[in-house]
Amino acid sequence: MEYTEIMVRYGELSTKGKNRRNFIGRLTGNVVKALKNYPDLSIHPKRDRMHIELNGTPAKPVMAILDKIFGIQNYSPAIKLPKDMTVVHQTALELVKETLPAPNASFKVNTRRSDHTFALDTNQMNLDLGNLITDALPDIQVKMKHPDVTLRVEVRRDGIYLSTETIKAAGGLPVGSAGKAVLMLSGGIDSPVASYLALKRGVDIEMVHFFSPPYTSIDALNKAKELTAKLAPYAGSITFIEVPFTEIQEEVKSHVPEGYLMTVQRRFMLRLADRIRAQRGGLAIFNGESVGQVASQTLESMTAINDVTTTPILRPVVTMDKTEIIALAEKIGTFDLSIMPFEDCCTIFAPPRPKTKPNLDRARQYEAALDGEPMMDRALAGMKITTIHPNDEFMNVHADEAAALL
Ligand code: ATP
Ligand code: MG
Repeated sequence: MEYTEIMVRYGELSTKGKNRRNFIGRLTGNVVKALKNYPDLSIHPKRDRMHIELNGTPAKPVMAILDKIFGIQNYSPAIKLPKDMTVVHQTALELVKETLPAPNASFKVNTRRSDHTFALDTNQMNLDLGNLITDALPDIQVKMKHPDVTLRVEVRRDGIYLSTETIKAAGGLPVGSAGKAVLMLSGGIDSPVASYLALKRGVDIEMVHFFSPPYTSIDALNKAKELTAKLAPYAGSITFIEVPFTEIQEEVKSHVPEGYLMTVQRRFMLRLADRIRAQRGGLAIFNGESVGQVASQTLESMTAINDVTTTPILRPVVTMDKTEIIALAEKIGTFDLSIMPFEDCCTIFAPPRPKTKPNLDRARQYEAALDGEPMMDRALAGMKITTIHPNDEFMNVHADEAAALL
C-alpha cells in the first residue's frame, strides 16, 4: 500500500495549555531537522496533530526516524483519497485485508468528519464501510472495544484519509523544550541511559567527558564519542566536550590518602563540569549515578562530592536496579558498546578499597593540599568541543586506520 501521509499525534504537550504553541513549534523544528534528507516531504503542524505529506517518499524510513523524536505519542501512516466513495470502498477493503492478522480477526470503523458538507455523516460512514467489509470478508468479527484492526476514516475538506495502524512512538517532550544542561558521560552503561532519559524529558544536553591520556587510550575516548552518536538520533545532534584530566588525577594521586582518592577526583570532575555548564549556558548537571551501586554512589559519597556546587545535579537512573538500566541500554542500542572493555579514567586511579562513607571535612582538608585552580584552568584550556551526528562512527574508523597501516 502506498501511503500518502503520516499523521503524527502529540504526546504530553497537548495538556500544556498556553505553552502548547511553543511545544509544537519546537517539535516541528526537531521533525524538520531530523527529516532534512527527505526534501519532498511537506510538514504541516496543526493544533492537535501534525501531517507529514510524503509526496512519493516511502513511508518506512520516515517512520523509523519519527520513532526517535521525543514529543510524539503515536503516528499513523495514511492514504489520502478523492471524495469518491467508489475509490474509498476499494482502498478501505484493501487496507483492512492487508492489516488483518487472521481471517476471523476483529475490526471496527472509526470516522471523524471536519468537512460537514460531505454527504455521509460519521454514523453513515461507519455503517457504509462496516457493511462493505463484513460482506466482502465473511469471517471477520465486528468488535467495538479493542478490536484487532481499527479502520480510521477522516473526512477533511481536501479529501478522505484512511489508516489502519497506530504506531506507538517515543513519547516524552520535544528536545530543547526543557532547556539546556550538561551530562557527565563516561564509557559505562549508566550515563548513556541517563542521557536518553534526560533527552526524553526535553532537556537539550551537551556531553562532558573526562579522559586521561596516556593512562586511557584513544579507544576509550572514541567509545564515549560513539555512544554519543548512538544517542544523537534522539537529539538531532549532540555537542561533545572532551576534557583532559591527567594532570589533576596525577596530583590527586600523589597528595591525597588512598581512601579519599576517588572522592577528591570526583569533586574536581564536578567542579569542572559545573564551570563548563556555566560557560555553555546550561542550568543543571546530569549524571549516571544510582544509589548504592558502587562506593562513590552511597549517600555519604554523594554528600561529600556534591559539596562543590549548588547547581542542581539530576540523576535519572538514581533509583533503578542495574538490570533495569541494562534493559534500557539494550533497547536504545548502547549496551554492547558500553561493555567493551576500555579503561576509564576513574577506574585506572581507583584505590582497591575506596571509602564508602567519606567524611566531608576530611575531603575538604585533603584537597586543600592541592593547587586546584591553575590545574582546572589548564584542563579547561585543553578542552575540545565537537558536534556528533547520528551515524557518525569513531570505533570502526580507528580500526580502518590501523588496518591501512598494515
Ligand atoms: P557509568 O556506567 O555511567 O560509567 P558507573 O556505574 O560506572 O556509571 P561511575 O564510574 O562511578 O559509575 O560513575 C558515576 C558517574 O560519574 C557516571 O555515570 C558519569 O555520569 C560520571 N563519570 C564517571 N566517569 C566519567 C568520565 N570519565 N567523564 C565524565 N563523567 C564521568
Ligand atoms: Mg563508570
